[in-house]
Amino acid sequence: MDICRLYKAELKELFKERGEPSFRADQLFEWLHRKRVSDFERMTNLPASTRVWLASEYSIPSAECVRRQVSSDGTEKYLFSFSDGNCVETVAMRYEHGLSVCVSTQVGCRMGCRFCASTQNGLVRSLTAGEMLAEVYKASELFGEPVDSVVLMGIGEPLDNFDEVIRFYDILTDSSGYNLKNRSVTLSTCGLVPEILRLAALKKQLTLSISLHAAFPEKRSSIMPVNLRYPLDELIDTCRQYVALTGRRVSFEYTVIHGFNDSEEDADRLTQLVRGFQSHVNIIPVNDAGRGISQATRKQAESFADKLTARGVNATVRRTLGNDISAACGQLRRDTVAN
Ligand code: SF4
Repeated sequence: MDICRLYKAELKELFKERGEPSFRADQLFEWLHRKRVSDFERMTNLPASTRVWLASEYSIPSAECVRRQVSSDGTEKYLFSFSDGNCVETVAMRYEHGLSVCVSTQVGCRMGCRFCASTQNGLVRSLTAGEMLAEVYKASELFGEPVDSVVLMGIGEPLDNFDEVIRFYDILTDSSGYNLKNRSVTLSTCGLVPEILRLAALKKQLTLSISLHAAFPEKRSSIMPVNLRYPLDELIDTCRQYVALTGRRVSFEYTVIHGFNDSEEDADRLTQLVRGFQSHVNIIPVNDAGRGISQATRKQAESFADKLTARGVNATVRRTLGNDISAACGQLRRDTVAN
């Protein structure tokens, strides 16, 4: 069983059941998440007998790097393999504010977004919190720098793996562990309404980002089947509730597909949707996912952002990193699995 997914309070409970003092849990948590030791044998301040039962009943997930691509802009993309042979992608990007790591939350995805390479073979399984933590720790080790922020925008729908993603967030931001700032995590979802409400009730300080990509219901349904289950109006209403409950603004990801979603009417409709609550629109020039979706140029993306800004919307064009290493989620895994 994955020991890295356990909260410190659960580790304390574990030691209590074994008749061992609770400070052992503090020591173990520090080995796992601060010193990031991946072998119980090396936890030298734990008694030998403790290390033996831990090793016989628990495992420390590791992310083995089986492929590594380095972009001309310094972005690095890793294909990590877990103990069962399943692979996910993790991307490390350096921004002005430091190193940002894009984490996968599932092996594959069942959401079926048309522009996304991650969903082409459906969902294989969800990752444990410990496996997601292993992505962050390994990416930091390979990149040679501490991680300053994490975005849950890799392979998978984070809210389709709700409990493990919350564990991941809580453990990553625990001050006695990796101690990432709790506002340094962004969770991106295609729009699972019940889970967004569940998340809002927890009042976490992470940034919620909604993959919107179209402002008209029919258009959105044609590229994102989730829109048939949770229609646009319901999703936007849920975002309003999220802002009211958490006090945190919501980000909207909008991938510009030239000629499809970047007209004046699209800008009008998008403005109506995001008006009246704390929001921000992130415009993304699409990476070619190889599914017949044409790539918008940066200029086309900027032109659409200008339309929104002129209408009073808080919109920016995202800097795209790693274009030369196919950094859009799912592409490396797809290419590798297909080969
Ligand atoms: S964009 Fe995200 S939610 Fe949609 S299929 Fe890809 S990984 Fe899944």
